[in-house]
Order: sequence, then C-alpha cells, then structure tokens
Amino acid sequence: MSTVQSEVNCTQCGFPDAWEGFDCRSSEWWVGCPRCGYRESWKHESYFSNGHLEKDVHEVLYSAGAYCAKKSDIGIEQHGSLSETDVEKTAAKMRDDIASGKLSPGSYVTRYNFDTREVTALVGQVPIGDETQAEKDRNPVAP
Ligand SMILES: [Zn+2]
Repeated sequence: MSTVQSEVNCTQCGFPDAWEGFDCRSSEWWVGCPRCGYRESWKHESYFSNGHLEKDVHEVLYSAGAYCAKKSDIGIEQHGSLSETDVEKTAAKMRDDIASGKLSPGSYVTRYNFDTREVTALVGQVPIGDETQAEKDRNPVAP
C-alpha cells in the first residue's frame, strides 16, 4: 500500500478527525475536513526535460462550508468543499434530494463562519468527531 491515512486536527475549525493522507510514491500529502470543508495539499513537482525546474506546490483552501451527500442504498458517501455562494445553493438542492429520496437523511451541508470559527449545519447535522464524543463521555458537562 502506498497511501497512508490518519486523522489530524483541522487548521480551520479545529475538528479533531480531519483526514490526512500521504502518498509514499509521489510524496503527495493532503488534508481534508469533512466538517468545514478546509483543504490543504503539498506536492513536489520536477520537470527535468526542459533544463530543470523543481518546485513545491502547497495549496490551501479555506472553505465557506462542506457537504456530504449520502446514498445509503449503494453505500456511496461524497464529500466536498463549498464557496460562499455555493453553500445556500447546495443546501437547497440537498433538501430537495433528501425529500425526494435521492439522498439519505445522513447527508449534510455546513457553513463555516470565519469570524467566530463556528460550523453550523444548514441541512442535517454538523459531524461530531469520535475523539470529541469520547471526551464528552469521559467528562459529561451539565447542559
Ligand atoms: Zn474543519
């Protein structure tokens, strides 16, 4: 296996279960947050055919929201990032798709607030990390 995957804290929203991946063959590295849509990737590019140009490509995408489209009947779960203008549009479409049965109720659309660093759900529920839930179970807080 050439890809290593683990979980990291999201730089943008602090979600403890953001995905981190590393491709041992290409040295490509990436992070993706299912909660706020944050993406980050790094790769090394080299072109030796035209003399030599080597560069590191580091991309950071601060996202205004995330979506998860679930189709439980065929077991597909699709995740993505959303721009400010796409958050409302995607939420409206997802409400329709859930109502018509095209998507499962576990689907969600979130919005990230850059000022408060809070993630709110427009459709469904904001994902709760395993670690976060475990912490809560260990240290129950009265409402
Ligand atoms: Zn995040």
